[in-house]
Amino acid sequence: MSSGGVFALSIHADYRCRHSGACCSADWDVPVELPVYRTLQEAVERGRLQPQAEARHLAPFVVEPDLPEGAAAMLERTARGECVFLDRGSKLCIVHRDIGEAALPATCRYFPRLAVRDNRGTFITLSHFCPTAASMLFRPDSPLSIVAGPPAFPPGDYDGLVVTGNDLPPLLCPTMLMDPSGYSAWESHMVGRCSMTDCSPETVVATLERDARVLRTWRPGGQSLSEAVRNLPQGLVAPEPQRTLDASLVLYAQAMQAIPDDLRPLPDEDGLDTAFFRLVNSRWSAFYTPLNRFLATKAFASWTAYQGRGVSTIVRGLDAALAIVRVESARLCRDAGREIDAELLRDAFRCADFILNHLAVGEDLAEAWSSAEA
Ligand code: SF4
Repeated sequence: MSSGGVFALSIHADYRCRHSGACCSADWDVPVELPVYRTLQEAVERGRLQPQAEARHLAPFVVEPDLPEGAAAMLERTARGECVFLDRGSKLCIVHRDIGEAALPATCRYFPRLAVRDNRGTFITLSHFCPTAASMLFRPDSPLSIVAGPPAFPPGDYDGLVVTGNDLPPLLCPTMLMDPSGYSAWESHMVGRCSMTDCSPETVVATLERDARVLRTWRPGGQSLSEAVRNLPQGLVAPEPQRTLDASLVLYAQAMQAIPDDLRPLPDEDGLDTAFFRLVNSRWSAFYTPLNRFLATKAFASWTAYQGRGVSTIVRGLDAALAIVRVESARLCRDAGREIDAELLRDAFRCADFILNHLAVGEDLAEAWSSAEA
């Protein structure tokens, strides 16, 4: 990869907001930077910008002590948890519609993009909490690969993890760093494994666990790390048969522990094992492609690579993401009283990324997953 460019997965490369309204009604805190706050405040005062009809009685900005760093205000929300600037009928953002995209707070401009910028370039994946992004996992028209210069993501200063020259590169294992080209080779290798459409996501994870174990034995002085990645065994590893949901629930519980107490969802696990094996498992093979693509979105542009302690940590993160999808699929099928289908699986991806990207603390997840290096 050339340095300094923007890279994304092919399935995300033409992303654009389709106005589902999901992110603008998720009851999230949306911080507003000072210049943006001034612009919005002035537009409100001059009557160029008005909140949605049901929120006209509210002050559109929350100004209080203890705002996040860099924020001059927060956007107010309705009792339904909607941003006051969401037009309920059209699902359009009133700020974007009436005074332009440039007036949006950074959170709004960049969501659902999740970026990592390092000395190789800017790497962008998406949060599949966004229903449009989640639907892209199912698209029939786009083989999975890493693409340079994706049309949806022009060069820019994307919000995200910024790795500077003072930061360490990703670790191969707790005692060995990777060089940039070696890490790029490993990232591409993981995406390549995830591009297989005819094997289960459990096979992808088991094979990557083996690949990570082999790669960790690399030492400088012989072949380069990139060559070592290219020379990894070709064969796939059969996963251990899973006769219960227990192993997935353990990884799910670990992710829950990474969520701050005041945000952690209440436990809701009754009947999930039965639901998984009655309503999900028999249809799982129909969804290998979107499931493997979901894994790819965790392997690519990975924050865990920089926050964790090696390549096995990254793969443990993939395993955990899959476990959470299994648990959420079981829960959604149990509640709907029907077998898994594309709609329920899409919602399971949304739930999984809500946990992984919006509730849990990334450093805490990486710390927990680093136990894979033992
Ligand atoms: S300002 Fe617009 S994009 Fe941002 S949360 Fe509100 S409605 Fe959504």
